[in-house]
Amino acid sequence: MTANLLDYDLEGLALFCERLGEKRFRAVQLFRWIHQKGASEFDAMTDLAKSLREKLKGCAQVQPLRVLSQHESADGTIKWLFDVGAGDAVEAVFIPESDRGTLCISSQAGCAVGCRFCSTGHQGFSRNLTSGEIVSQLWFAEHFLRRHLGRDERIISNVVMMGMGEPLQNYAELVPALKVMLDDHAYGLSRRRVTVSTSGMVPMMDRLGQDCPVALAVSLHAPNDALRESLVPLNKKYPIAELMQACVRYLDVAPRDFITFEYCMLDGVNDTPALAAELVELLRSSGGNLHWCKVNLIPFNPFAASGLTRSSNARVQAFSEVLSRAGVVTTVRKTRGDDIAAACGQLAGDVQDRTGVVVRIHKQRSAESAALAGAVPGALAAEVH
Ligand code: SAH
Ligand code: SF4
Repeated sequence: MTANLLDYDLEGLALFCERLGEKRFRAVQLFRWIHQKGASEFDAMTDLAKSLREKLKGCAQVQPLRVLSQHESADGTIKWLFDVGAGDAVEAVFIPESDRGTLCISSQAGCAVGCRFCSTGHQGFSRNLTSGEIVSQLWFAEHFLRRHLGRDERIISNVVMMGMGEPLQNYAELVPALKVMLDDHAYGLSRRRVTVSTSGMVPMMDRLGQDCPVALAVSLHAPNDALRESLVPLNKKYPIAELMQACVRYLDVAPRDFITFEYCMLDGVNDTPALAAELVELLRSSGGNLHWCKVNLIPFNPFAASGLTRSSNARVQAFSEVLSRAGVVTTVRKTRGDDIAAACGQLAGDVQDRTGVVVRIHKQRSAESAALAGAVPGALAAEVH
């Protein structure tokens, strides 16, 4: 069987090299060629012996996901749609800002959690992505951007696991992918700049803390169990009290001294000032104070099947003020990439890509954003459709 080398973290690649009868340090060379230089052909890896290159050609390949389409927004946001086979597609979104470049990537085709306000959840679960498929989104985006911007240095500084899927329900494939992102011989991202977002898989939060403690965002959406259960069905299994304890435990190992809570603002459902006050009390009683958390309010991106609508700006503002006045650091996420449907939860249903193939698109979303400064130069704009 041909191995896809994108599936391996450095340790996995070292074991692979050993099985081929090669020294482990060859893995570092290979790893750097693949992830730092973006090479996918063994013949390009000129400092590897010809005999090794031939051996590799016989049993391995660097096989990224196929890109179905690419769109650039007027605000510089770029989204890619990747084919994952069997009519499924996943998306990654690049969000340029003045001081960083963030890539939002997917962990599953579909999602089994089934949150009421999420179009991925409405469409159900297809399958877990392999770690190679998760890494592939970063591999492609980073090297595409470098080539087309004519830059040698790193462009993507932050990764958020906030695309399609529940990353902690694909734990075995997630962790090697995170290790590739963090490895200095690959992308060298800081643990503070890689964020896993979860709807509250409590046992896996603890394991993540042991195995690969990156930054954590928790999709809360409600301050009490009755309301949260109606929005995030996983709450029946892991109720808020357990979730909060897991968050506080995670703080011991977290690369930042806070946990981010995401709260999707749904008109008339979870957006009253009384619920904001209840949220303050929940956060205070769980952590003993309000310094251990941040709240990120996300304006809901509506889709027909949800039967839900976005809270008005005034309601978001009022909710935010209750939190801020109590001393909770609160941000309201700005929507990016609206014109190319790259904002949270905007893409759903069947679309026809440029090759005429009908692909099922699940929800994809952009990550948090700020004022746009680091706009993508014209050279890139000419390359994308
Ligand atoms: N499954 C993980 C990560 C992917 S979803 C999780 O739930 O955290 C990432 C974020 O997108 C979540 O906070 C979710 O609340 C938000 N989201 C999902 N659908 C949305 C929509 N239609 N509008 C706005 N945000 C949405
Ligand atoms: Fe899955 Fe996250 Fe969507 Fe919920 S919000 S259905 S956990 S992707």
